[in-house]
Amino acid sequence: MITHYLLSKEVLTYIIKESERMYPQETGGVLIGRFEKEYVLIDYATAPGPDAQHTTHEFKRDGIYCQEVLDRIVAESEGLVDYIGEWHSHPSKSRPSSKDVMAMRWIANNKKYAIQNPIMCICMQEHKEVWKTYFYLYNQFRLNELVEVPSSPNGN
Ligand SMILES: [Zn+2]
Repeated sequence: MITHYLLSKEVLTYIIKESERMYPQETGGVLIGRFEKEYVLIDYATAPGPDAQHTTHEFKRDGIYCQEVLDRIVAESEGLVDYIGEWHSHPSKSRPSSKDVMAMRWIANNKKYAIQNPIMCICMQEHKEVWKTYFYLYNQFRLNELVEVPSSPNGN
């Protein structure tokens, strides 16, 4: 079972920058990476895309754009990485909503996505201009919060 997550500074910085850029509206995109035994590696977070819909309480990514980016990155990695889930911002401090859980349930049940336990990342503004990312694994109608793997000494 996946209990931990690992992501690069680059991905983290990108998610926070994009969340700040779109404040007070929500933004987001697709997460690309790979699953290991007990953790998930998040290698990329895509942009929302030009046709994404942003409001203060809702976000819908540009599906065509995100699919194109996903296909390109998967091809470049020669299949090492793949779609692992979704990320979006919560400009006001709020936990994943029941709608967020439903969205992940839909993905888990949709054969097209071919993933039973997708990852959800929420970038939350905890205080004014202080953003923090939370990662969850969807499993059986629930989002289980994942623990960050401490970064390795070589800076990965
Ligand atoms: Zn949400």
